[in-house]
Amino acid sequence: PTMTSITRSPTTSKKRKIAILTSGGDAPGMNAAVRGVVRAAITRGCEAYAVHEGYQGLVDGGNMIRKMGWDDVQGYLSTGGTVIGTARCKAFRERPGRLLAARNLVKEGIDALVVCGGDGSLTGADLFRSEWPSLLEELVKNKELTSEEAETHAHLNIVGLVGSIDNDMSSTDITIGAVTCLHRICESIDSISSTASSHSRAFVVEVMGRHCGWLALMAGIATGADFIFIPERPPSGENWRDNMCAEIKAHRDLGKRKTIVIVCEGAIDSNLNPITSKDMMDLLTDRLHLDTRMTILGHVQRGGKPCAYDRNLATMQGVEAVEAVLASKPGIPSPMIGMNENKITRTDLMKAVALTGEVAKAIGRKDFIGAMELRDPAFNQQYDQFMAISTATTVNESAEAGKNSLRIGIINVGAPAGGMNAAVRAAVRYARNRGHVPFGIHNGFPGLMAGLVKELKWMDVDGWIAHGGSELGTNRDQPSLDLGMVSYQLQKFNIQSLILVGGFEAYTACLEMNNARNVYPAFCMPMVHIPATISNNVPGTEFSLGCDTSLNAIMDACDAIKQSATASRKRVFVVEVHGGKSGFLAVMSGLAVGATSVYIPEEGINLARLQKDVRHLCQRYGEDAEGKSQGRVIIRSESASKTYTTDIVSAIIKEEGHQQFDSRTAILGHIQQGNSPSPLDRVRATRSAVCAIDFLESHIEHDATNGPTVYTKDPSSIAVAGIQGSNVSFTSVEDLLKDTDMKNRKPIQTWWMDYKRTGNLLARRLDLL
Ligand code: ATP
Repeated sequence: PTMTSITRSPTTSKKRKIAILTSGGDAPGMNAAVRGVVRAAITRGCEAYAVHEGYQGLVDGGNMIRKMGWDDVQGYLSTGGTVIGTARCKAFRERPGRLLAARNLVKEGIDALVVCGGDGSLTGADLFRSEWPSLLEELVKNKELTSEEAETHAHLNIVGLVGSIDNDMSSTDITIGAVTCLHRICESIDSISSTASSHSRAFVVEVMGRHCGWLALMAGIATGADFIFIPERPPSGENWRDNMCAEIKAHRDLGKRKTIVIVCEGAIDSNLNPITSKDMMDLLTDRLHLDTRMTILGHVQRGGKPCAYDRNLATMQGVEAVEAVLASKPGIPSPMIGMNENKITRTDLMKAVALTGEVAKAIGRKDFIGAMELRDPAFNQQYDQFMAISTATTVNESAEAGKNSLRIGIINVGAPAGGMNAAVRAAVRYARNRGHVPFGIHNGFPGLMAGLVKELKWMDVDGWIAHGGSELGTNRDQPSLDLGMVSYQLQKFNIQSLILVGGFEAYTACLEMNNARNVYPAFCMPMVHIPATISNNVPGTEFSLGCDTSLNAIMDACDAIKQSATASRKRVFVVEVHGGKSGFLAVMSGLAVGATSVYIPEEGINLARLQKDVRHLCQRYGEDAEGKSQGRVIIRSESASKTYTTDIVSAIIKEEGHQQFDSRTAILGHIQQGNSPSPLDRVRATRSAVCAIDFLESHIEHDATNGPTVYTKDPSSIAVAGIQGSNVSFTSVEDLLKDTDMKNRKPIQTWWMDYKRTGNLLARRLDLL
């Protein structure tokens, strides 16, 4: 896709009127997008309008197009669906309907429209834009508009936001609502898994996705399903049913008590015949005699309360949509706001829509390779990875694999974080699939020193994907506690490569072993650090495992706290969150819950800032409607200031609030480690672990006399497996030193400060920008 880099356009002197509508199927996060557009528009000196009931509201006009004030979108972040309503509108598909819509917009003085919907809605929007001049001409001819009105609004600006739970739009890695939908699917399948295990049953679960298998694939990875069926990649070979039954039987023979098969609603075989949930249920019942049930998840997948990812995605994109409106010029194609490589982008809307249509066309002509290529590269890779780790039948069978067999130690280091177990599980299963022998090292480095090392078999990690905490046991101790003993044990168990799943301590452990390679040959082997810490403070990655789980735990707590604060009308909660010297959790949760202020270690707290916050609170409580004051939340990162502690900040606010507002504290503590890991953490964990094994394998040397060897002192052989955009990339721990603030145990550069700026903007904190 063509992408333009984002530049901030200067505020125009003309007061623009910008409208937003939501259309097509509702998606969680649409409200956050509306809030983002409304507040960003007002901040940029424009007037914001909401069109109710999608295109129907445009056609009907009148009260359906309503001016929005700052406070009209209060509470939008945590609300599912779309408050301003959505509809499928027949009239808008025909020119007479669009003629009415154009008249209604011009009469309101609106000539910029942000549309949040799926590809149908965005196609309609672009058609409307291209027809606009002729629509106005006709309206002038019919005397429904004056030529002056038509001239003033000669061009319609359209900006597309993709709200779709299917994640089926090309040119963007993710759509608003898809991740929340994945949350609901995973929660459902986790629940089904317990009953399936209890009764030793099989379940066929049908998930949404007409032409797009994203939900099915991600749910398959995130729940450890046995099999998945998606439209883009039908099962290969005429005898796929036999293969599937053999695979499931192999899982059962290994001792698995449950079978989960996920069928995407648009799943097909290679002759384009539908593969239905009912067929699969009958197959498992008749051939394998499994007690099989079918669950069609249906509308629970629409999601309800949006997850943190969707809130922040929609908010950032809503703000960007306003910038795109202000930057647009006649003749430039309508932009669609996307997310590519973890960056908010503008792409050509109609190109994206056309590319999206190509997938269905490719499937229709049985060009499945083409269909997969049209999806992002991560999709392809993740499909192959899913197949590799869910397959038990090839374990240790390949002679070729046996020749290159590695003994791989897997260790958890640091505090527990969501996704640690998922990473270990994927590493074990993929390693076995490749003919390696994985060993679990229990209780971190002290455990290794005590020789707590045990081979891990395929079934040993069954069910781990949904478990929080650390099944292996973890702690913060470093190898320097006794490098000699660490080296001795590695040699004793003949460990030839190491995967460390953990936080900043795992990074420093790698550095210690890297630095001791000249003394201890046992360390002269490839090692991978998979970052896992809720603080997201490991260099070399944009996301560490656990940070998404934690963010959602904080968000859930803050939603409840905000509700309590609002109920008592005039309360400001100061919520203390974890993160060490990294403000990531504070910034991201602040954006997701609409915090009034966010204190982070990167900025510290001082008196001037506290004064600003108190002034702002006085002003906001002064503006609140009589008897309807809002509860407000301030997020304070635990290490934001040594002096201005959570208690002191709260006491100051209370004192200065006089009768207008009071204050309480909430220190979230260890609940921030979350419970069951979020789908994103599970998926990231699985992907990182599989790539980590590939990385270790790439270091096997073939020596003519000694056969395969992994002995290496090359600094690049000890690396962090980082999630960078849509890739997992490996950077040596030595190279990362220059990017690391060792004193504060965090990366020097952080990518998320833009999110802080947006958080301030949407909390009306222009005084902080
Ligand atoms: P979903 O992903 O939920 O299907 P969608 O946006 O693709 O979302 P559609 O039902 O295709 O959903 O479109 C929503 C509305 O957009 C339609 O009811 C119609 O009003 C308008 N629309 C769709 N396609 C067009 C088109 N080609 N021309 C004009 N309007 C259209």
